[in-house]
Amino acid sequence: MKQKKVILITGASSGIGKKTAEKLIAAGHVVYGGARRVERMQDLEKLGGYPLHLDVSDDASMKAAVDKVVVEQGGIDVLVNNAGFGLYGSVEDTDINDARYQFEVNLFGLARMTQLVTPHMRKRKSGKIINISSVAGKIYTPLGGWYHATKHALEGLSDCLRFELKPFGIDVVIVEPGVIQTEFGDVLTSTLMKRSEGGAYEALARQIADTTEEMYKNGVGSSPDLISGTIMKAIESKKPRTRYLVGKLAKPMLFLRNWLGDRIYDKALMAHLKSS
Ligand code: NDP
Repeated sequence: MKQKKVILITGASSGIGKKTAEKLIAAGHVVYGGARRVERMQDLEKLGGYPLHLDVSDDASMKAAVDKVVVEQGGIDVLVNNAGFGLYGSVEDTDINDARYQFEVNLFGLARMTQLVTPHMRKRKSGKIINISSVAGKIYTPLGGWYHATKHALEGLSDCLRFELKPFGIDVVIVEPGVIQTEFGDVLTSTLMKRSEGGAYEALARQIADTTEEMYKNGVGSSPDLISGTIMKAIESKKPRTRYLVGKLAKPMLFLRNWLGDRIYDKALMAHLKSS
């Protein structure tokens, strides 16, 4: 095994975060997994990990989690900012407080966790911050305005952070997954339909929900193992890449976005929705 590291992963109660925690524990690292549903992380404890209650929309909770790791381990080598969810719905239908909450979890939570760990990493002149963005941070889809806004913002924030932290020996790595088989699709569709029912965007919402359900339920996506492997590679590499684009549809979607003009890309997406 390479050098044992102290790692804190947010959103470790399911999906990508949980798989990553399992893999890193198995590789001999000291792994703290944070999420609100602590009961969903008991298996990590059995494997030798440390589940923590963590709500990335709550400042006191984030501070308590980081303090605990630092007191128990003397510092943090790696922060994996993974907690997040997809809020879908038209801009008009989405309550502005729900939109703010989407930013709270996907962007400000990640930024606050970063603020809390960087003083400890700077002291040691080393560390890694791995931000789980998405190909959604580079492209866009109908009714995904708020989700895409958080991930596009996360991309910008992470790129600037890379400059700031480089002189202190801290690497910032962006991971951009495509479609990954986790609870992400269920979380997205459950609120999308409630938000859109009876409104002007209901028919489009139905199309998005059906396409999403099809993708996530029928095993179209990649296994979260693929992403946890990528995160592990970034953690164990001396010189990790600045970003990793990985998983089902990530590369083709970005290719289309980069090479088609906006209007042709828009048409291609709508045609895909209609045909699926
Ligand atoms: P899951 O829904 O399976 O897992 C999401 C995790 O985030 C859960 O552990 C959940 O824990 C945690 N979480 C949500 N809200 C909070 C909060 N307020 N505080 C702390 N933890 C929270 O989805 P994924 O594993 O797929 O998602 C992980 C990341 O991957 C997200 O950032 C997502 O945007 C990104 N991603 C996912 C893709 C996919 O297709 N699956 C594609 C591209 C990116 P709990 O509810 O217990 O707090």
